[in-house]
Formats: sequence, C-alpha cells, structure tokens
Amino acid sequence: MGNSSGSTALHLLQTVFGYPAFRGQQAAIVDLVSGGGDALVLMPTGAGKSLCYQIPAMLRDGVGVVVSPLIALMQDQVDALAEVGVRAAFLNSTQSFDEAMRIERMVRNGELDLVYVAPERLLTPRCLALFEASNIALFAIDEAHCVSQWGHDFRPEYIKLSILHERFPDVPRIALTATADQQTRAEIAQRLQLESAEMFVSSFDRPNIRYQIVEKANGRKQLLDFIESEHAGDAGIVYCLSRKKVEETAAFLNEHGVAALAYHAGMELAVRSKNQSRFLREDSIVMVATIAFGMGIDKPDVRFVAHLDLPKSIEGYYQETGRAGRDGQPANAWMSYGLQDVVQQRRMIDESEADEAYKRVQGQKLDAMLGLCETLGCRRVRLLDYFGQTSAACGNCDTCQSPPVSFDGSVVVQKLLSTIYRVDQRFGAVHVIEVLRGIDTEKIRQWRHEQLSTFGIGADRSEAEWRAVLRQVIALGLVQVDSDAYNALKLTDAARPILRGEQTILLRRYEKPVKQKVSRSGSKTKGYVETGLSELEQQIFDKLRWWRVETARKHNVPAYVIFHDATMRDIAKARPLSLAQMRSIAGVGEKKLETYGDEIVTLIGEFS
Ligand code: ADP
Ligand code: ZN
Repeated sequence: MGNSSGSTALHLLQTVFGYPAFRGQQAAIVDLVSGGGDALVLMPTGAGKSLCYQIPAMLRDGVGVVVSPLIALMQDQVDALAEVGVRAAFLNSTQSFDEAMRIERMVRNGELDLVYVAPERLLTPRCLALFEASNIALFAIDEAHCVSQWGHDFRPEYIKLSILHERFPDVPRIALTATADQQTRAEIAQRLQLESAEMFVSSFDRPNIRYQIVEKANGRKQLLDFIESEHAGDAGIVYCLSRKKVEETAAFLNEHGVAALAYHAGMELAVRSKNQSRFLREDSIVMVATIAFGMGIDKPDVRFVAHLDLPKSIEGYYQETGRAGRDGQPANAWMSYGLQDVVQQRRMIDESEADEAYKRVQGQKLDAMLGLCETLGCRRVRLLDYFGQTSAACGNCDTCQSPPVSFDGSVVVQKLLSTIYRVDQRFGAVHVIEVLRGIDTEKIRQWRHEQLSTFGIGADRSEAEWRAVLRQVIALGLVQVDSDAYNALKLTDAARPILRGEQTILLRRYEKPVKQKVSRSGSKTKGYVETGLSELEQQIFDKLRWWRVETARKHNVPAYVIFHDATMRDIAKARPLSLAQMRSIAGVGEKKLETYGDEIVTLIGEFS
C-alpha cells in the first residue's frame, strides 16, 4: 500500500474498520508513525490504542511487529483482525515448529500486515535475524509499562527491548500503555530509548465508569447484594488478593446463582485458559481472579469490576477497574475495604524481601490508595490528579452522589492517639479500641489498662466507628501499623501537633453499611444499564444477540469479534434493509459487510 497520507489512513479506518472518524489523538499518532516517527502513547483502556499502530502498519511497506506479553490472547487478536480482512499472525511458544516456519516465511515474503510476538521470542537470535532479513514497517511495543521495575507488571525482557533501537535504527517505534504515572512515563521513555519520541497523553478519564468504595462489613455478602441489585446476568470481574479467596468466592457466588469462574496463577494452565476463553466468549460470566488475570483482556462489555481486597496502588486499581465498560456504556467499579486491608497490605510490604528503596516506593503507593479510599471529595478528581490531570467533581461516583459528611474530629483523634501513647505503642487495633470503649477484658486487667486516664473515654462510639477513625488516621499518616511487633499501633511525628491541640482535623462521618436494595424487575431487563431501545428495537437486538452467539460458535471466535453491542444497538435502531444502508453503521467495514451483510439484512427483513 502507498505511503502515509491523512486521507489514505482515513480511508482504511472507514472501509476496513467501519468507523467514520478518528478519535482524539489517533489521527495525529497515525500520521506521525506512518511518516516514520517514534511515539509514546498514553491512553486509557478502551480509548483505541490498537488502531494507532495497525493503520500505520498497513500504510507502510513491510510487516508491523507488535510486541506483546499476552500470549494467551494473540489468537483472539489475530482472529479479530482476520474478521476485518487484515493479514495478521503471531509467533509464540504455543505453536508448532512447522507453523512457526510457515509464519516466518510469510514475514520474510512480506505477506503479512502485522505479526504479534512475545518479547522473549523477539529477543532470540533467530527472530532478530528474521526481522533483519525482512522488511519491517514498524515496531509497536504494547503494554509498555511492563518495562517499569517499580510497577506491578514488570517483565525483565522488556528492558532488553532497547535493542530494537540499536539494531533497527530506521524503523519507527511506537510504545503504548494505559497505565502511567509520571514516574512510569519517564521510565518507559528512558529504558526503551524513546526520549526523543513524541509523547501523546490523552485524558485518562473514563466517564462511563462509576466509582464506588464501600466500608467492608461482610465482603462476600455485600458483593452478592451488589451483583444481584445492579448486575444480574452481566459479565464482570471480581478481584481478590489470594488464590484461596478466589476459589472460595467463586464457589460462594455459584451457590447463590451467579455463574462464576475462577482464575489464578496456581491453577492448571489448561483450566485457566478454558475459564478465560469462556469468560471472553460467553455473555454473562463473572470471573473471580487474582491480578494475574486481565492484562490485555479487551472484552468490551464487562459491566463491572469489583475489588474484595484493597489494591496495592492506584495504578493497579485504575488498570483493573479500566477493564469495565470499554464499549463506552455505563459500568461500575465497586470496592469494599476495611481496616484489615490496610494492616494486611502494610504487612506484605514490610515482610517482602525487597530492598528499602523499593519498600518505600510501595509504601507511598499504598498511602495514595488509602487517600483515595478515605477522601471526602470526588473519587475521579483524586484518581486523575494521581495521573497529573486536573478535573472537576464528576457527579458519577459515590462521594459525588452522596457526599460524605465531615466533622471536626480533632478531639476524637486526640483520644485515639493518646490511648495509643498510653499503652506504650505496643498494642494492636483491637486492644486499643477496647481500652477506648472501656471494655472489661482479661488482657486489659492483666496490663492494668483500666487504670489509664483514657479508659472508656470513647464509650460513645461503636467498634466499627473507631475502626473507621483509625483507618483515616492511618491514611493521614498519623499512625503506623508495625508488623514486626504484632501489628502494634505506633505514632508518627505527624501525630504530635494534633496531640498538642495545635492542628484540627476533618474526619468522615461514619455511615453504617446499608444493604443494597434488590431491584430486579423483569428477568431480562437490567436495572443499571439503560439501553435506550424501543420495544421493537429491543426485540431485534435480542434476536441479533442470538444470531451472534451462533455465528461466534461457528467461527470459533468471541462474540464481540463479530459485532460489538454498540454496533448491534445501532443496527437495531437503523433497521437496514440493504447493504448500502448497512454500510453507514459504525463498526461495519467492507469485510464484515461482505461476510454478514446479507444475513443481517434478511434478519431485519423479518421484522418489517
Ligand atoms: P485500547 O487498546 O486503547 O484499550 P482498543 O484499541 O481495544 O482500545 O479500542 C477500544 C474499542 O474502541 C475497540 O472496540 C475499537 O474498535 C474502538 N475504536 C477504536 N478507535 C475507534 C474510532 N476511531 N471510532 C470508533 N471506534 C473506535
Ligand atoms: Zn465524583
């Protein structure tokens, strides 16, 4: 195909992918890379990163090499491209030698637009020699944050990718990621030698995702209420910290009528992949998983992401919640969190084998996460601020929708801090709260803590209220949990001015967790996602969904690879009766029109 030009790129976008126009910075990126420039692209999940390298790869001579750590998903990515008529293949350890030879030959002969490779494969002498002997259009380095040693997806091979710059100085490179605070951003540029690349930073906001963080009472039960009331029949992801909890939670959901599967790194590979593929292909599975699950999962219709445990950092939280609502339709990010989470995460940092510098960074990341949980303001403002972007209160998060009531907590905090001080900073949360509340326990008598001046001065508050105060005080950095000393609570230097009454402090008023109301009306209608379809349109849409399930099964691809919900909704509204009418619908390119057009037109005809 010819060389770069705006109209040619647009032509490909319209005819191949079926979209009328580029979004946001896509056009500028495509233009730059097609012309041979390097780019560093930071865009939130679902914004459309793939087209930024797919279209330049098609426009430029030679094959575009996509470096991706996601071996398990390469097949689906290649299938999706085949569906729109793009010549793509992959090279990874799952294929036979003969198959790999066949693909290598196609690369050498320039018979492909795109080839996906895992980084460890790319770095082999054989693969590098292959690419040196071939015509390479560009290198796209996907999930580029994997290069960050401080991050949670660190892959050592990624660091070695700087070799691309040395061995292929004339081939343009584009690095892409959806997670990047300032530090990671700098690391990507430096380690991949992309300092002189043009940087494209999109807004990280995901306005269709509603953020909600609730006080943990009984996590599993709260989760079930949440799913039943807002997401019956929806696809979703539930994140847990441990493998054991993953399995228990999946079993619990199944017992209560929610179709759930488990995924964690300790499971047998075959079972894990089977579960992943069912989640991708079927319409309404809840995946309960550790964070081992999800990178590169581009299922567009995940309607919720729930966290039963506190994530380690805002990057992790944002990346995981970002897997909801990639199709732009309303979605929920829900989390339950309690004091125990804070203690547990602190302990994990303290007990890790890492060096002090690493632990310090992890501690700061956790502090930022706690700040998000305890904020009195808009969650989205906090999140975007973390990525260096300013915004206004969003109206689509729990703190915007029912603002927490704050009060002057100086005296309450003084009571807590002085109790910690008076028990010599040697006791954990349970004991300190019992002293505050004036409870008669054996341990208290043993240590004669009933004689302390603070014994019982907090009897007006419940245990849960005191836990909430303690969490906030930890989030504010006034108290630390010492995991080397049985989780004893210790005061920090920042606690002093408050103890001396020199500083006031605002606290969030405690709200008792309420059971979510179950609002299932009909069996099929979803309370949460407003579809905006008339009755007839809904009937057509349902029919299309059935058609899509069968077609996906026949072609052995995930349903969304055929058409997204949004495209089918548009079809249901437009009711095209000819191929020409069908062509104007977003998401319908030439190849799909050719493959499915007649079937769709016939199906619509039945409703006229
Ligand atoms: P990311 O990799 O950034 O998470 P994808 O590349 O998977 O996002 O794109 C997300 C979705 O948006 C895909 O379904 C894609 O087809 C769609 N999309 C991308 N660009 C456009 C566009 N210009 N117009 C309409 N839809 C688009
Ligand atoms: Zn908000």
